Amino acid sequence: MAIIVQKYGGTSVASLDHIRRVAESVAARKRNGHDLVVVVSAMSGQTDQLLEMAAKISAEPSDREQDALVSTGEQVCAALMAITLNSIGCPASSLMGLQLPLITNSVHTKARILDLHTGKLKQLFSEGIVPVVAGFQGISEEGNITTLGRGGSDTTAVAIAAALGADCCEIYTDVDGIYTADPNICPKARHLEKISYSEMLELASLGAKVLHSRSVELAQKYAVPLVVKSSFGSDKQTWIVNEEDIMEDSVIQGVTLERNVSKISLIRVPDRPGIAHRILSPLADAAINVDMIIQNASIDGFADFTFTIAKTDREKATQLVEKVAAEIGAPKVLAANNIVKVSAVGIGIKTNPGVAAKMFKSLSTENINIEMISTSEYRISCVIEEKYGELAVRAIHQAFELEGSPQAVEGEQ
Ligand code: ASP
Ligand code: MG
Repeated sequence: MAIIVQKYGGTSVASLDHIRRVAESVAARKRNGHDLVVVVSAMSGQTDQLLEMAAKISAEPSDREQDALVSTGEQVCAALMAITLNSIGCPASSLMGLQLPLITNSVHTKARILDLHTGKLKQLFSEGIVPVVAGFQGISEEGNITTLGRGGSDTTAVAIAAALGADCCEIYTDVDGIYTADPNICPKARHLEKISYSEMLELASLGAKVLHSRSVELAQKYAVPLVVKSSFGSDKQTWIVNEEDIMEDSVIQGVTLERNVSKISLIRVPDRPGIAHRILSPLADAAINVDMIIQNASIDGFADFTFTIAKTDREKATQLVEKVAAEIGAPKVLAANNIVKVSAVGIGIKTNPGVAAKMFKSLSTENINIEMISTSEYRISCVIEEKYGELAVRAIHQAFELEGSPQAVEGEQ
């Protein structure tokens, strides 16, 4: 008998019919004698609709109220799922984040999990009842409702799997796993049977929307076996596993396009110790993630300082940076929205020379200008003009021959 956590995304529970189909498969799985936890997202489109309602009332609704509002999407879905399961003879009980409880810090709209209690889940197991947990939501130590960031139900599911020591965490979605690129952009994208946590983490943080990146971080940290499956009848799936379990000797596993990127530049910043800290620490205090950072060589004691952030943080970030710019005497702050980030991801990057050169060559062949570059052990990213984003993905995908069987880059320089 295994403990299995299943998470159903918005499209898997998009209507009462969908919920009924999911409930039937949950009930069948339960009859096999497993201890199941079902985690649900809001019904497809619900979270967006709620956010739009708030936006109609106020340009800046408070984050606390926004959390109280959007968390209802998951509440509705968990209750409907439990009602459906009970109606087909599978005892089930809904649990909200505050009932578990799943305790978070108080950074509303992107809270992090501090603690998760499993007592209620275990009690329901012992009574033969399937817990149906509302994903995405938690409660802060001050007793406020919080949410874990868009797509955060995945993180709820993995956190529960980790806390229970579950045998596996199954993420059900509308795609049958991870591909070498988004098939909508790159029709030749190939399905991957396995991918390592590290690669998945890069892909997830780079805009591959299949998994919430924090869920992958948690799965890696607590060694939770994670599998992405379709709830629409495909028999393909992708396992996310340890690096050692990847047999394929591919250098690059995937190419991503991240559209949620903005760039902020401070022009003529005094080139002296402590300035980078002055610029970036207000952003850190506001929980704004800074991604790529470039400071160009200083000329006559001044340098330009450029960094990227999520487009969704742009207004807040620009305000904070303008304040610092005035304090340190930087004359100009420029913000650019018409950029995207394309990245090649693979565990082979660190051991294969020539990967970056090959990627840059594929962009130059298409006449695409690279504005910023960053690299890590598992990733090479380039910021380019937005209108070339999809073309760049196809060019890089082709350069690394990802559509066929994976190839080494040996001899490429
Ligand atoms: N409903 C939330 C969202 O749309 C959380 C999730 O689906 O995982 O972002
Ligand atoms: Mg999702």
